[in-house]
Amino acid sequence: MKIIMLGAPGAGKGTQAKMIAKEYGVPHISTGDIFRANIKNGTELGMEAKKYMDQGLLVPDELTVRILLDRVAQEDCKDGYVLDGFPRTIPQAEVLDQALAKLGDRIDYAINVDVPDENIIRRMSGRRACLTCGATYHIEHVPPKQEGICDTCGSALVLRDDDKPETVKNRLEVYHRQTQPLIDFYGKKGVLRTVDGTRPMEEVFAAIRAILA
Ligand code: AMP
Repeated sequence: MKIIMLGAPGAGKGTQAKMIAKEYGVPHISTGDIFRANIKNGTELGMEAKKYMDQGLLVPDELTVRILLDRVAQEDCKDGYVLDGFPRTIPQAEVLDQALAKLGDRIDYAINVDVPDENIIRRMSGRRACLTCGATYHIEHVPPKQEGICDTCGSALVLRDDDKPETVKNRLEVYHRQTQPLIDFYGKKGVLRTVDGTRPMEEVFAAIRAILA
């Protein structure tokens, strides 16, 4: 099962993607996480990506496509995956489509987690992330057991630079301009399914499960 998660930054698609991955036993692949891991390890790729991420801009397609295609070619992806944060542009979607078509394959579902902008801005300021293990929390909706500390690895939680209000505004503009056209793109292919992302996390997941059943 090959699934793409669509939705504005902060719509909760990462949380849902992790729940799908767990339930269906497929890898959760987040290009944002791959970039952040590279930044943490000080790789050349990480340094290049950081220039864009810190401004809320998209990392250039060429770089992003390369890391994504490398990742989905790995052995654990042969029975499927959930893509979270990729594709984010029409050219990225086209490259993925062509790569899959070469293997006689295609995306099964593009799930759009729909949330209005005003909810997004409120939500993102409450997000907290663990830069050590990649776990994410929300001070109201998914709080850690101990304030400011990661449940999984015990590291300090932070408000990521790209979740800060001025960056969020940029990211929403970028989303509407560059990523929203993908809703039409996958709609035309007949694989688009939309869920109401303003509902509680468990309800959103139940709606997704009904789609994938
Ligand atoms: P995310 O964790 O998915 O919200 O991604 C964080 C940041 O990483 C984004 O704001 C972009 O700068 C960059 N990024 C992640 N995925 C992509 C992608 N598919 N294309 C371009 N940039 C990306």
